Amino acid sequence: MFQPDIETVPIPQLRKLQSERLKNQLGLLYDKVPFYRRKMDEAGIRPQDFRGIEDIHKLPFTKKSDLRDHYPYGLMTMPLEDISRIHASSGTTGKPTVVGYSRKDISIFSEVVARSLVAAGGRPGMMLQNAYGYGLFTGGLGLHYGAELLGMTVVPVSGGMTDRQLLLLQDFKPHMIACTPSYAQTLGEEVVRRGIDVSKLNLRYAILGAEPWTEAVRSDVEKNLHVTATNIYGLSEIIGPGVSQEDYEERGSGSYVWEDHFFPEIVDKDSGEPLEEGKHGVLVFTTLTKEAMPLLRYWTNDITWLNYDKSGKRTHIKMGPIIGRSDDMLIIRGVNLFHTQIEDLLQNMEGLAASYQLVVTRDKAMDEVEVLVEVDKEHYRALGEPSLSDPESTPERFLEIRNRFISRIKGEIGLTMQVTLQAPGKIPRSEGGKLSRIKDLRVKK
Ligand code: ADP
Repeated sequence: MFQPDIETVPIPQLRKLQSERLKNQLGLLYDKVPFYRRKMDEAGIRPQDFRGIEDIHKLPFTKKSDLRDHYPYGLMTMPLEDISRIHASSGTTGKPTVVGYSRKDISIFSEVVARSLVAAGGRPGMMLQNAYGYGLFTGGLGLHYGAELLGMTVVPVSGGMTDRQLLLLQDFKPHMIACTPSYAQTLGEEVVRRGIDVSKLNLRYAILGAEPWTEAVRSDVEKNLHVTATNIYGLSEIIGPGVSQEDYEERGSGSYVWEDHFFPEIVDKDSGEPLEEGKHGVLVFTTLTKEAMPLLRYWTNDITWLNYDKSGKRTHIKMGPIIGRSDDMLIIRGVNLFHTQIEDLLQNMEGLAASYQLVVTRDKAMDEVEVLVEVDKEHYRALGEPSLSDPESTPERFLEIRNRFISRIKGEIGLTMQVTLQAPGKIPRSEGGKLSRIKDLRVKK
């Protein structure tokens, strides 16, 4: 571990620390940010009387719209000349939101990324190929500073430029790569397609995040790149990547939330009421140590669960994989649907690959989803690379595979969906960043 004392701190001690830190954040926000002073006054909260973390649910939520309403600098606690760095969200769902960091914020950012890198398998002296985008997006610089703090050698290649990524993987021999899971898929496929001997690479670990992904993609990446792949989660509003991280020996059981800096809650998406451990809901974070732009109960829109894992190496709570953002949820004939649910069903589906896209259309008042999914390359070759565009020419074997997938979707999700098989390579790939798995053709009224 990078900081074993705090990563294994007993829970009562952690709560005490969280309470002290939260009270400090409230004082800072009350004094310096008019928006929060007003919110606290309205809620009848006086920082000096606040008991502690157990009363966190009394605090008001902060939404993305609050950041937009105070664009660009309205929620900062300090004058701009004291801000060390500005980042912005990648704007996946609209106008970017701007965040500022003090020197201390940058050092905490580096610290949580260093913890995350160790949990992902990284060690001082190892080399990291950092294929997260550098720039306003927090991924590139965030991983960079954390890896340097840990004592890794960083190759700051940034995202995209697949030819160059592959060259560096072969010649520089990094031990670890950081990128989005969809881009790791692209790289894995290219390694196979170009006949690169993966056993000659030195790559052992992949630290992947910035978009939702499931076990189906994990298997694909681990198989093609011969790595152990773990999840890193974060968002610029809270700090960037390194808010939570999966341990490479505890894969599949959730990601440790670095609770001494970011306090997580799960709340009901409609009522905002706190939900118990294990229940799916909206993830909400309160920063505990931020200086430049602390946020109270920030509504991430990301849907997951929280759970303490008594058998884990660390004491901090774990969060599940993100199944999606609540604003990306499709409602199809009354059933709530995230694209990760379809991806999940691709795990262990013989004959199909983990490359897919959902196409959403509207027929009168009804929304329909068509699942485009690629067939597995080996099956495709073995069957003589047939045309798949016409059921007449599609081999029986593929029709069976398709029907099996349709029934699996119907059985698990309760919806009948059209499944259209595609030849390998037909579905858009990540070219370096986040990949949209949904193509929405509905006319927006
Ligand atoms: P944007 O909202 O513009 O994409 P960010 O670049 O700050 O802004 O991305 C943060 C968001 O990315 C998170 O709120 C979440 O939706 C998604 N995200 C980040 N890491 C992960 C991850 N490991 N798994 C799923 N989603 C993730």
